[in-house]
Amino acid sequence: MSAQVSTTVQIPKTQKVAIVATSGAKVHVKDHPVKSPEDLAPGECLLKLHCTGVCHTDLHAAMGDWPVKPKTPLIGGHEGVGEIVAIGKNTPNSPVKLGQRVGVKWIADSCFDCEQCRKGHEQNCANVKLSGYTVDGTFSQYLVSYVHSVTPIPDALESEAAASILCAGLTVYRALKYSETSPGDWVVIPGAGGGLGHLAVQYAKYMGRRVIAIDAGEEKRKLCKALGADVWIDFTTSTDTVSDIKKATGGLGAHAAVVTAASSSGYTQAIDYLRPNGRLMAVGMPGEAKLDASIFFVVFKSITIHGSYVGNRQDAIEAVEIAASGAVKCHFQTKKLSDIATVYEELKKGEIAGRVVLSMD
Ligand code: NAD
Ligand code: ZN
Repeated sequence: MSAQVSTTVQIPKTQKVAIVATSGAKVHVKDHPVKSPEDLAPGECLLKLHCTGVCHTDLHAAMGDWPVKPKTPLIGGHEGVGEIVAIGKNTPNSPVKLGQRVGVKWIADSCFDCEQCRKGHEQNCANVKLSGYTVDGTFSQYLVSYVHSVTPIPDALESEAAASILCAGLTVYRALKYSETSPGDWVVIPGAGGGLGHLAVQYAKYMGRRVIAIDAGEEKRKLCKALGADVWIDFTTSTDTVSDIKKATGGLGAHAAVVTAASSSGYTQAIDYLRPNGRLMAVGMPGEAKLDASIFFVVFKSITIHGSYVGNRQDAIEAVEIAASGAVKCHFQTKKLSDIATVYEELKKGEIAGRVVLSMD
């Protein structure tokens, strides 16, 4: 069975990609070869990308500031949407077809055969491939992906609106799904004005939760309120976040916190403002920080601390379907691949309300 190749898209030999040569080096846009359809392995597909979101994780990857190190040179990016222009030889029963629009997420592919995969924990597969980390990612015009791991994008959802659902949306959707909260419960979202956070506010409201959004500045306050946050707290001006949260929740504290801040400061005090049997959903991933939690009060208040790491293929499909229904909308500005260095600077300073999506056209 030979490779299937698009008859409508002319696949070039070279493309533009954004690449970092070594961890911490500046990101550069360069020419880079496109893998020929004949060289695709069984199960691989070639995508012509339309766009990609820029996640704070891409900045961690470019800086190499996580204890698990990325490959270098690295083409980052893991929130891409594109069209399948080739499928590798000997790929029977592909669940996706030539010409179909699909999304690429952080979990580029996994083995599907190990214990973790069998239990649906594809994120924790020992042989997992991570987009823009252990394999090249979506900051490219053409990308090798995997037919069994891409996420089909429904027609109702435009590519730019879909891009950030594939990491930011999927991640916070799953964190909320496992937060063991019920409609009406209070969820605190530190980082609510950022890429993950602003989608968390919307998925939480969609699920009928009451939301306390924490972030900084007027632009993010307006965004969070417009997206339905019930309470806003500016962490740069509040003198006592714990008492602000207690006051908003009738003195009892919140049922869950979904921490989407990229710094450890987003985690401090969560044990204090959660009510008994509350859940701390750890999502933001500062590279070096330790979780500074009172062991006594974790036990005394029966608190659960749950590390929530992206999501599996089913979580991705659910998160995308909710977005396609119109209930959750990514708030994004569109920029070009060549703008990526500036986007990283803005992310570092916490200046982006919502997301930046890079268009590949
Ligand atoms: P972002 O920069 O868009 O958003 C982070 C937000 O946190 C910013 O708005 C910032 O102002 C805010 N913030 C910083 N300190 C705060 C504090 N003390 N209290 C409240 N808000 C605070 O970043 P993002 O793309 O949304 O990613 C956030 C983090 O989540 C990163 O560390 C990223 O690597 C991580 N992440 C984790 C997963 C996962 O699977 N768990 C998936 C994707 C991203
Ligand atoms: Zn991400």
